[in-house]
Amino acid sequence: MEAPIQPPALDGGMPQAVAGLKRELARRGIDLAYRADGASAVAFLLSRIPAGATVMNGGSTTLEQIGFLEALANGPYDWLRPGIAAIADPDERIRVRRRAGTADYFVGGINAVTEAGEILNADGGGNRVAAYAYGAGKLFLVAGVNKIVPDIAAAFERLRNVAAVEECRHLGASTPCALTGRCDNAACRGADRQCGKVLIIENERIAGRICVVMIGEELGY
Ligand code: SF4
Repeated sequence: MEAPIQPPALDGGMPQAVAGLKRELARRGIDLAYRADGASAVAFLLSRIPAGATVMNGGSTTLEQIGFLEALANGPYDWLRPGIAAIADPDERIRVRRRAGTADYFVGGINAVTEAGEILNADGGGNRVAAYAYGAGKLFLVAGVNKIVPDIAAAFERLRNVAAVEECRHLGASTPCALTGRCDNAACRGADRQCGKVLIIENERIAGRICVVMIGEELGY
């Protein structure tokens, strides 16, 4: 008879894998807050962003799924993204988007995070990863537990053969991964490429600048 499947062990209410990640991130100067579901993650984020703050977000299916963008729209914030999207002139839109990368608060997703705490994100244009690296004042990186992978090799596998595939298909991009479901890096050039800039966050010098908000659900891609 097969042994019954055991639920993941918990460490103070937090799955052990997340507790281990929290310890590794702390060594890298990065905080981690765990919330069991999307609603409590949204409540946590709203409790950490002061009324009147300038807020920008990076494109993220996870943020849409947990209802954070709706909460931002209805909250007492200076949320920059809707105004940027409404700018008709492409050059002006780029200029304003570049400035928005230095918002006091920036909230975005994660493509993959290793058990050792390396955080990977890919971008087509780069505005999101530029804000992640240094531009944003306070950075919240929101992810479901499905984004935790064993190591860097698995992180790139996830980034290229899961996240980029879905993103390219979502955007209707004509990239090899969108067509076949697998990355062909050598064949992929041009404006449609959605992983032209890849950021690995290994460490943060500014205390309290980055907080990973890990949610105990499978979210995003
Ligand atoms: S390099 Fe091209 S084919 Fe590979 S994941 Fe990125 S967008 Fe897709």
